[in-house]
Amino acid sequence: MTHQLPGSIAIDGPAASGKTTVGLAIAAEFGYSFLDTGLMYRGVTLAALRAGVPADNDAVKPLLRRMRMTVRVDAAGTRIFLGGEDVTGELRRSDVEKNVSKYSALASVRASMVRRQRTIAKREATVLAGRDIGTVVLPKAPLKLYLDASEEARAKRRGTQATQDENDAKKDIASRDKVDAARAVSPMRPADDAIAVDTTNMTLEQVISFALEKVRCARN
Ligand code: C5P
Repeated sequence: MTHQLPGSIAIDGPAASGKTTVGLAIAAEFGYSFLDTGLMYRGVTLAALRAGVPADNDAVKPLLRRMRMTVRVDAAGTRIFLGGEDVTGELRRSDVEKNVSKYSALASVRASMVRRQRTIAKREATVLAGRDIGTVVLPKAPLKLYLDASEEARAKRRGTQATQDENDAKKDIASRDKVDAARAVSPMRPADDAIAVDTTNMTLEQVISFALEKVRCARN
């Protein structure tokens, strides 16, 4: 009897909760593509900032039609292109970081990104990381993980990665979490059938081996 891996895997959770690290580990171990949906929302935000388009549904709609975003996925991760230019390296800039939750709260932005995420997940075996994968994008995903950790632990991890000073990281994480959890459209929350893990007191290795085990168990 062959054991089939889940077709898609949803990993949700707040900022800096380890979704990317865990998603990439699953992708490498089992041969999935990894779609970091946060990068897609960051891509829209960068396009809007470049074009001077405010975070408003009516203003953003024409931008969504003309921005020519390409999303490339494989086991090594996600790359975002705007009009052929690889902008992936720009997407963690502080102006993008500060504005992304405003743009990603817009219904028009979400509708457009969710459609594209579903197309990718249908095309290939994919691990998707985000905030609403288990609840909205793929409510029937056979395996859903929801990673969480205290704000302190998450800010410390960001600080250790040296992408940001720990205090700045904490402020930024807190304000994004608040907007992401409170928005009217697809707020961040665990799906009822998600496996929720509080990783505050776990090492990265422990979180990864827990997740890999869950994928093995989800084989049927
Ligand atoms: O995952 P990351 O922290 O890079 O996501 C950046 C932002 O994109 C989040 O703070 C959130 O506003 C938005 N996002 C979202 N839905 C997703 C993934 C990200 O609204 N599925």
